Amino acid sequence: MVVRIGIVGLGKIAVDQHIPAIKASPDFELVAIASQHSTLDGVAVYRTITEMLGHDGLDAVALCQPPQVRYDAAREAILAGKHVFLEKPPGATLSEVEALSEAADTKGVTLFASWHSRHAAGVETARDWLKSRTIRSVDVAWKEDVRHWHPNQAWIWQAGGLGVFDPGINALSIVTRILPKPFFLTQGVLSFPANRESPIAADLSFRDPDGLVIKTEFDWRQTGPQTWDIHIETDDGALVLSKGGSVLTIAGKPVDLPPEAEYPGLYQHFATLVGEHRSDVDISPLRHAADAFLRSSRLIVEAFED
Ligand code: NAP
Repeated sequence: MVVRIGIVGLGKIAVDQHIPAIKASPDFELVAIASQHSTLDGVAVYRTITEMLGHDGLDAVALCQPPQVRYDAAREAILAGKHVFLEKPPGATLSEVEALSEAADTKGVTLFASWHSRHAAGVETARDWLKSRTIRSVDVAWKEDVRHWHPNQAWIWQAGGLGVFDPGINALSIVTRILPKPFFLTQGVLSFPANRESPIAADLSFRDPDGLVIKTEFDWRQTGPQTWDIHIETDDGALVLSKGGSVLTIAGKPVDLPPEAEYPGLYQHFATLVGEHRSDVDISPLRHAADAFLRSSRLIVEAFED
């Protein structure tokens, strides 16, 4: 069965990844978009999700707006009997995502809280290798230039936009996937620009039940080469996942990996969930981000101007 899908919010990620992945997938047909500002050739265009939900034969929606406005759209789509693909992060709060999960179960539709970085080429190989290793330390560095990656995105700096956790949560989505045991935050420092509601940097320290320490550094002030690296020391050598999970070395040797296919992988998984009448709503990366806002001390740093 081909799933007829509509996209809500035609911003950067919808254009760069969702549209090409849907068009290349044998499982989906893009039949509609809901966009306040854009149009797309060959596809029905609506200005609101409410109008789009009336599109004849629509089965599913992919919600690609900022997280602050996603809950209302997701709830409306679920109540209309549509399957829902949520971009990351799945919402602005944990409670609203749990409420959506309950609503989807009640309605009997699929809810998919997607984490695209979990589909990076090296992630599953890293997870398999780590399963039988003794891990000594975990260090994550996710440092990028916000001016380059997020120009003119006002929402990202507003409450609920997550600030540097917008990319940082990708690292958390990988680490929660590859480490064998759950972990929890023990301390953190969040740096807020004097004129912004969301942090520009976060230094966090987590621990697992065996005392393994996991350190993460997220920073949006890095110019020049960008860093998206996870370094894990084990008794059998170091495992290093770099470039956002797409490059893997183990004990100093590069590992052969398939080409990048994060969004094709997400849509393949979404098709499987719809076919099997299941949902997949793992909120653990968002929970760690929320814990960071609860448990960290706060530094006020230099004001940020675009
Ligand atoms: P974006 O370029 O700012 O686009 C978001 C789109 O959502 C807008 O173009 C707009 O589309 C719609 N929208 C609806 N309400 C809005 C509001 N109140 N403020 C701003 N836009 C609103 O953002 P994006 O980079 O695509 O990110 C969207 C989501 O995808 C975020 O959750 C982000 O974390 C995630 N994501 C982004 C990337 C990336 O590389 N950029 C990668 C992975 C995941 P219309 O004008 O069509 O209505």
